[in-house]
Amino acid sequence: MQEELLPDSDDLDLDSNILFSKDYGYFNNLALSASYTFSYEEYFTNKKRLHNQPLSEPLKTILHETTHLYQVLATPYGIYYQTLKLLQIDLIRNLIRTLLYKYGIQPKPPLIESCRRFIKANGYNEIKYLIHGWFIAELMILYLEGDVVSYGNLLLKNPLLGALPMADYFERLEYFITIFLNSNGKPCPTFEYSMKESATSILSELQYFGLKSTGFPDTVGVLESWGKVAEFWGEKHLSIDDCPQLFPPVIESELADYYGLLFWAKDAIDAETVGEFILSYMTLCEIALSPPVLPYYRSLRPEGISLREINPTQRMLDLFSAAKGVTPIRKLENDYVRFTETVCSKLKWSTPTEIARATLSTLDCPSGDKLFEFYKRAQAFRVDVPHIFIDLDVWFDLERPYMNEFYYYFSHPVIEFSDSTGHHPDASVSIFFTEQALINSCVRKLFLTKDQTITFPYRAPQIELDYFTDLLKSDLKSLLGFSPDELSLVSPS
Ligand SMILES: [Zn+2]
Repeated sequence: MQEELLPDSDDLDLDSNILFSKDYGYFNNLALSASYTFSYEEYFTNKKRLHNQPLSEPLKTILHETTHLYQVLATPYGIYYQTLKLLQIDLIRNLIRTLLYKYGIQPKPPLIESCRRFIKANGYNEIKYLIHGWFIAELMILYLEGDVVSYGNLLLKNPLLGALPMADYFERLEYFITIFLNSNGKPCPTFEYSMKESATSILSELQYFGLKSTGFPDTVGVLESWGKVAEFWGEKHLSIDDCPQLFPPVIESELADYYGLLFWAKDAIDAETVGEFILSYMTLCEIALSPPVLPYYRSLRPEGISLREINPTQRMLDLFSAAKGVTPIRKLENDYVRFTETVCSKLKWSTPTEIARATLSTLDCPSGDKLFEFYKRAQAFRVDVPHIFIDLDVWFDLERPYMNEFYYYFSHPVIEFSDSTGHHPDASVSIFFTEQALINSCVRKLFLTKDQTITFPYRAPQIELDYFTDLLKSDLKSLLGFSPDELSLVSPS
């Protein structure tokens, strides 16, 4: 009977990253690369921004994909999501090392099969514990992404996984995350229980799934609508009534993520101009993606925090209620702090700036850990200039004193145009993020499938693929103790 207790992987997505795509580009949320369908030449000729004119399509696309980069590198939601992915790698690393060094079992993909056999023969043991950790991280990722179908499948097929409400999984994950961060050179306070009792959590979960079943947007909707409104940066001066494109009367289903939440926001934000609307809306998105999820700022969690205060979609709904009657943001320099403080205090939430301050005082990262280093750097920028990730003028005003430094941290490490590919001027940055994404895909595939073919995040010549194949093999060897012979990297078509 033992094997029934082990999760079933049949429905899991073998690729580990979501691509946020748009007509003219897409963003890879693990490699952090941007790919555009226009050429460098087209970008260059459209680069100049005309005052009080709609932005050209290439510029709209670039701002849109840049907001996705901010979402990953500068918000608590983004770094929590990445931490869950890193935790999954670490659990599989422990799994392989335990099998190899403690039990002498040579790991072979798909690892989940070896584990199934092992657990069947040996009963409850540390292998099962590690696998349990991996699957609850997967559940949390699906829950946060709002992928209710995959989430439901995973739970339905694995009754034991589903025995607890999501809030309990959040707590269990915090235990795993705390161990992981502490053993990974980023010490954080030890684990303590902090969630509300289960009854409230279940209610909040039911509300969320009820909401989802009515077609209400999910986290992807928050991420995409933030990117969408950024595209209207050139039309800030227009009155709302003169910009019907912002609220199209009919939304085709594939555009629901981009526009769905804007209709709710229109009632909530008392804006007369496009500028007031988009500045206030982007700020609400930023707050929605700033729940106090990491252990570093656990002290900022309200007593008995519920999952409702963690899930970006539900946070967005609460923010719409809280924003009613609050004067919108007219000018970022004057209004951002007032707006965030007013809205957050109504909900008794910490502002993104308060979380940034707490992060700076508690998060230490080892050198070379660029993901966390960049995240910490984002918080330092935020403390200095609270509205910095809302103010897209930073991309048009090259004279600002902090611009060189800002570009270094918050430009895509790799930008692919239709005719050429640009890499970050510091090669170690683009190598780090590409390498991380490859390790992530590879370890995930080792666990779930026989096939060890990894699609490279962007189109690359054979010499670059060979370079990363060697790098990946040596990374895997030191991480896991072996690297699969069949490993191969292919350029996307
Ligand atoms: Zn997008």
